[in-house]
Amino acid sequence: MRLLLINPCNPLVNTGSKKNRWNKYRAWKPLGLLVLAGLTPAEWEITIVDENTGVPDYKRMPRPDLMGVSAFTSQAPRAYELAAEFRTRGVPVVMGGIHATMRPAEASERVDAVVTGEAESVWTQVLEDARRGALKPLYEGSLEALEKTPFPRHDLLPTGYHFGSIQTTRGCPLNCSFCSVSAFNGREYRRRSIEDVVAEFKLIREKEVLIVDDNLIGTRGDHIARAKELFLAMIEADLGKKWVAQATINMADDEELLRLAERAGCTAVFIGFETTGDEGLIEVRKKYNIQKSRDFKASVRRIQRHHILVVGSFIIGLDVDRSGIGLDIADTATRYGVDAINVMFLTPLPGTELWKKMEEEDRIAADSFPEDWKYYTLTLPVGRYRHLSRAEIIEEMHSCNRSFYSCARILRRVGRNFWKRHKAFLSLVCNLSYRKNTHLGRKVHWEFKRSLDQFQLNRRLPTTGDNLHVGTPPSE
Ligand code: SF4
Repeated sequence: MRLLLINPCNPLVNTGSKKNRWNKYRAWKPLGLLVLAGLTPAEWEITIVDENTGVPDYKRMPRPDLMGVSAFTSQAPRAYELAAEFRTRGVPVVMGGIHATMRPAEASERVDAVVTGEAESVWTQVLEDARRGALKPLYEGSLEALEKTPFPRHDLLPTGYHFGSIQTTRGCPLNCSFCSVSAFNGREYRRRSIEDVVAEFKLIREKEVLIVDDNLIGTRGDHIARAKELFLAMIEADLGKKWVAQATINMADDEELLRLAERAGCTAVFIGFETTGDEGLIEVRKKYNIQKSRDFKASVRRIQRHHILVVGSFIIGLDVDRSGIGLDIADTATRYGVDAINVMFLTPLPGTELWKKMEEEDRIAADSFPEDWKYYTLTLPVGRYRHLSRAEIIEEMHSCNRSFYSCARILRRVGRNFWKRHKAFLSLVCNLSYRKNTHLGRKVHWEFKRSLDQFQLNRRLPTTGDNLHVGTPPSE
């Protein structure tokens, strides 16, 4: 039996894009499909395709007995396109991942079977049913303990990725209004056994590893104690890996944790600052960041003292955001002293509190589904924003990036890292990669705006013969 697993591409966010050669330093292996492969019994011959590295001619490949596709929301249109192609050839298709979980009815119309939630508890049943030609339309996965899950098949994708990937925990105790992690993985902070994590690290061929956990260190004392234990085990195993991870700002509060993280190979952390003031943090329900009247600048410095770069995440488009927010973010991030920023448009992803709110208030702008899901990349303004028009929010994004990634500011940041021997080369690559992406993004923003404006104008006009073409915005 042949199983083909596909990670669908979305050209709007393709990290393998040849247009930015720095992006090759940011490409990581898609872990979800490697996990599924790890759960698959030996009688299945497995092929994994990551379309971010190129789209093969599927017709020339051996015909699979089952095609599986996993998709975030922005990948859903391509996943449906692939499903249609394979079903035409008589290949049954199963779809899982966050989007299928949040929109099972939509997915069901386009594939043979939908897996909602985490796949571990149902995947072998799916395969067994597929083998008997008796797939059910829906399999509901539950949140299982992670202690004894089989290892992902790291051997199944070719080398050439800059980062291998690994997961050590799932779920996040916080419940930010824009985030779908708690809806998909739950709020309980589930941990894998440290022994397993260390053993799996040894199977990863890449020297650099992305730890995909949504929050590697957690928020409570017992979470932090476990993170320390993990780092200690990684040091003792002498893994020789460098790794990056996502964490909350409380990482800065424990010197021992930082010391161990550095010795275990941590080179950079992504930290969600989200916005520039308390009002915004309250709006997105991330009050955690304002506990103890935190001094962000001092927190960032404490992390950097351990030779760990800090990449800050920010959002533009909150209800509190007004004209000038772009420069405000660039200046705030500079004041905090972060090494790079990743700024996203506020995006109502299905399954989140934010989606519910914006839908109720009729503020979902890109709403021709499923085609418009491709715009839900977090890099396009798909909503209607309280105080900023579509053109204004795009301008705010551009002014933020222009200011933070100006040559002068990049030189100052990299120079500071060089002077302090804080990974100056990595900080340079990181800044150049973001700077180039922000340049490339500008054109895409205006194209998106033009097509959405045109689409909405068409929709408002009476549907005479001239105006019947109101489907997908014409840019694609
Ligand atoms: S802290 Fe991060 S992972 Fe947790 S809910 Fe907020 S955004 Fe999501």
